[in-house]
Amino acid sequence: MKHFRYLEGVSTLVLDKALCTGCGMCKVVCPHRVLTVNSRKADIVDKNACMECGACANNCPVNALSVTPGVGCAAYIIQTWINKDKAACGCGKGECC
Ligand code: SF4
Ligand code: SF4
Repeated sequence: MKHFRYLEGVSTLVLDKALCTGCGMCKVVCPHRVLTVNSRKADIVDKNACMECGACANNCPVNALSVTPGVGCAAYIIQTWINKDKAACGCGKGECC
């Protein structure tokens, strides 16, 4: 899913490294490889690839991640309007899917 990109700089994803225990769950559940774990701490490696699905935040046992679900999806739709392409974010919740 690496080729699915959203608008640059719109993701609301925030990581509080102080809370992170390095369990790696966020890396496992993220469909866009936005997160990794280095030296027992999560790291955001590609924030602009975040589609704001909320999976990482929902599965983090210590609430070290926060994201406002859905904004990235809307941004993706706007981007496809601009690019004259068909929107298909894959979330299954919007008119685009
Ligand atoms: S919100 Fe979804 S796409 Fe964004 S970092 Fe979390 S799991 Fe990955
Ligand atoms: S799921 Fe939470 S605690 Fe686990 S590595 Fe990711 S941010 Fe850290």
